[in-house]
Amino acid sequence: MEPASQTILAPLLESSGSKLGFIASCQLDHDGSLYLDILGLAQNDPVAMAWLLPLLHKHEGSYRLYGFDHILASALSEGDPLVINQPRLFAEDDTRLAQLTSLLAIPCFCHGTVKGLMVLADRPDGYEQELVAQLATLADNIGSLLHVRDLELARQAAEAELARQASVDPLTGLANRRAFLERCQGALQLLQRYQTSFSVLMLDLDHFKLINDGLGHAAGDYVLCEIAQLLRQQLRDTDQIARWGGEEFCILLPKEDGERALQLANRLRDAIANLELSWHERMIQLTVSIGVAGMLSPQDNIDTLLARADQALYAAKLAGRNRCLQADD
Ligand code: GH3
Ligand code: MG
Ligand code: MG
Repeated sequence: MEPASQTILAPLLESSGSKLGFIASCQLDHDGSLYLDILGLAQNDPVAMAWLLPLLHKHEGSYRLYGFDHILASALSEGDPLVINQPRLFAEDDTRLAQLTSLLAIPCFCHGTVKGLMVLADRPDGYEQELVAQLATLADNIGSLLHVRDLELARQAAEAELARQASVDPLTGLANRRAFLERCQGALQLLQRYQTSFSVLMLDLDHFKLINDGLGHAAGDYVLCEIAQLLRQQLRDTDQIARWGGEEFCILLPKEDGERALQLANRLRDAIANLELSWHERMIQLTVSIGVAGMLSPQDNIDTLLARADQALYAAKLAGRNRCLQADD
């Protein structure tokens, strides 16, 4: 519920003599279905509420009203206030409506577009024309507020999408180097506070250039995505995985010392060597070299660990590839 809508409703119920009221914004969900997002709801009579409740769907702490087979939808589709002062007349089509003594639904417009709906119900004497006209003016003001709210939501969504794009590697969907380092800083502060160890793995695919040269760049891209998928599957949600660059990946393992990190690295190396990949019916054999660095002293930070893991990776390459080496202590 939104505080502004909620604040309007209590005095609105009182001044209009209604027992139930809500303000809702028209929104589209992920699959394009239109719904009413209930921003404010007030009631002082359980009977009126019993009419509304079965129409609502709970969604992440708020209520939504879906479907265009209910009576309120006609106010939206026709764009005019819907006034029902004798609900019993509708009893044949909508038996539940007969529970109410009266119902008023006014579409809220802004710049000629319907932005939402203001609904009042159960005024004992019904909603006469003069009252409807007064409330329609209020509904227009609400329409302007809903429009401003939509603009702000769109701005927030665009900002969140930009932030997401800035932190994700577009090919594999893994965190990029910048996001990885940022997340590591946060995770390491916590780990150091609780005096828990942590380790870093640096992975570099062996002779990856041969895949590009032999099968084309698209095949190389495909392999990188498959490796990213394998890493996601093999690691825990709390492990941070990133595409470090090119055909290199980096992993932070919280709460793991160097020994356990080496075991895990060997498991990953095995899984990659056993991965059955094919590109246009050509089998792809792949191996990886991994440098492992565990925390040695409380002064260790992500930079010192990465540097040691990188040296170990270099040594693994020199030693013949397809192996995991732990950084020298
Ligand atoms: P080494 O075993 O020594 O690591 O050999 P390598 O061939 O894996 O290493 P090298 O650094 O010589 O080549 C890495 C290649 O990765 C070169 C580059 O074109 C390719 N590469 C980098 N980023 C991408 C990408 O996003 N997609 C594809 N398909 N290839 C990429
Ligand atoms: Mg490389
Ligand atoms: Mg390589």
